[in-house]
Amino acid sequence: MSDYSKGDVVDEAGKYVCVPCGFHHEYKIGDVFGECTSCLAGSKDGHEDYVEGTGIWEKETSKQT
Ligand SMILES: [Zn+2]
Repeated sequence: MSDYSKGDVVDEAGKYVCVPCGFHHEYKIGDVFGECTSCLAGSKDGHEDYVEGTGIWEKETSKQT
C-alpha cells in the first residue's frame, strides 16, 4: 500500500484517508495533496510524526467482503 505526502500530485481520483486521524477527503486527478484539515497533519501544527514530506494520505480501497 502506498501513501502520499503533502505536495504530491494526485494520479488516481477517489477518496483518501488521513493516516493519523482517519479523516476522509476526496481528490481528483491533478489535485495536489495538502495537509489534513481535520488534524492538520502535514503542517507544523499537526502531528509531530506526520510533517510535510511524510506520507499522510492513503487511498481508500473498497472493501471486498
Ligand atoms: Zn488528519
